[in-house]
Amino acid sequence: MKEFYRECTYPYIDDEGHNNLGNLTPNILSGQSFEGKMSEKEKAYRIKMAEEHMKEVLLWLGYDVPNDPNMKETPHRYIKILANEIAKGTYDKMPKITNFENTSGYDGIVFQGNITVRSMCAHHLAYIYGRCHVAYVADKGSQVIGLSKLNRIVDYYARRPQMQEQLTQQIHDALDKLIPGNHGIAVVIEGKHTCVSMRGIEDQNSAMSTAKLSGAFETESSCRKEFYDMIARLPREV
Ligand SMILES: [Zn+2]
Repeated sequence: MKEFYRECTYPYIDDEGHNNLGNLTPNILSGQSFEGKMSEKEKAYRIKMAEEHMKEVLLWLGYDVPNDPNMKETPHRYIKILANEIAKGTYDKMPKITNFENTSGYDGIVFQGNITVRSMCAHHLAYIYGRCHVAYVADKGSQVIGLSKLNRIVDYYARRPQMQEQLTQQIHDALDKLIPGNHGIAVVIEGKHTCVSMRGIEDQNSAMSTAKLSGAFETESSCRKEFYDMIARLPREV
């Protein structure tokens, strides 16, 4: 556990439940995860402290939190949705991955498209939503990955403060590691960033695309074309 912390002034509760307040702080960056190593006790304590500070934030911004029936519980709700939903990948373990023997000796592309992406940008903590398309070229003598695991991997890396570029790379690298003997990995993300649509330039229509291709997707134009054709044939709704 210690590898996630460094000397600083933020709270830390060790595995025995001792409060080392004032000694250490998390040493992870946006896009990284505690990988299930933070104890439930510590997480509960952090959520409680964060709620108190969230209340302070709202008070400083001028809201009468204690007397507003709509906002009274907002610090609690906001931190809960952040820690347990939108950014839960910060704490969770990598989903359990099931591989199957490639009994038919399939050596083509395995594609899963329109995977829902729900994330938040590390710069503004504004929501990002969109879709992800992933593919790999199977090795006929090796294994294939359980299909829904592709969705789970995307969701795991998306649910934390992120950069879309980093998210794309992380999904690519995870798949490359998890699919033994693959002959290429392709990941495309199309993301709508609310920090673009709701602030600054306020452009409602733009979307950001990122792509990371390796192996046959990078070296063989026919393979790359097949991947993008598969994306083009998908229903277009986000
Ligand atoms: Zn942003």
